[in-house]
Amino acid sequence: MWKRKVESTTSKPTKKCHWSTGLLKSMEDPECKIKEDDKIIVINDKYPKAQFHYLVLPKEDILSIWHVQGKHHDLLIHMHNVARTLVEKQSNHEFIMGYHAMPSMQRLHLHVISTDFNSPCLKTKYHWNSFTTPFLLHSSDVCRQLRETGEVKKIPTETWKDYLNTNLKCHKCSTQPKNMPDLKRHLLTHIDSKQQ
Ligand code: AMP
Ligand code: ZN
Repeated sequence: MWKRKVESTTSKPTKKCHWSTGLLKSMEDPECKIKEDDKIIVINDKYPKAQFHYLVLPKEDILSIWHVQGKHHDLLIHMHNVARTLVEKQSNHEFIMGYHAMPSMQRLHLHVISTDFNSPCLKTKYHWNSFTTPFLLHSSDVCRQLRETGEVKKIPTETWKDYLNTNLKCHKCSTQPKNMPDLKRHLLTHIDSKQQ
């Protein structure tokens, strides 16, 4: 896994478990788990980057999106459908669903996130760009690629690094905020205008 900046946490790391295995621990924690069936577990993201931020993980030990093969097509379709069911329950909110081009945490995980991006955990340009540029591989595209070609098209390292370093841009209008505080203030205007 690529080592991006680790989320701050108050719990002390144990000697045996690397921080990148945190999702495996959360999958076992009834307090984190919000849905389960024979193939998947859904958990709440511990550091949500929006009002709603879920992770759909397979029980099968697949390390990341880059370890997915044609034989996993049905599983990824199932993960997509589970995500859609979650989203339908929040009909007042828009969502996006996808996989990060370079995940930091072990075990394949599908991000299901509301597009308000209204959260104190959304702190950095990298957080922002990881959901609002092609760094996020949309679930429907991934499923289509698997169906048509039996694999997920690789993204060169320079390309995904460029996505993360893109200048800030609002996902809903042409505004180009100067910095993260500016972006976060701007995002509130979209939420406020929606609520009027
Ligand atoms: P990625 O960068 O795609 O690997 O995303 C990992 C996600 O896992 C991030 O959105 C983190 O906020 C989230 N996360 C990190 N540690 C945990 C944990 N222990 N339990 C649940 N979610 C976590
Ligand atoms: Zn805007």
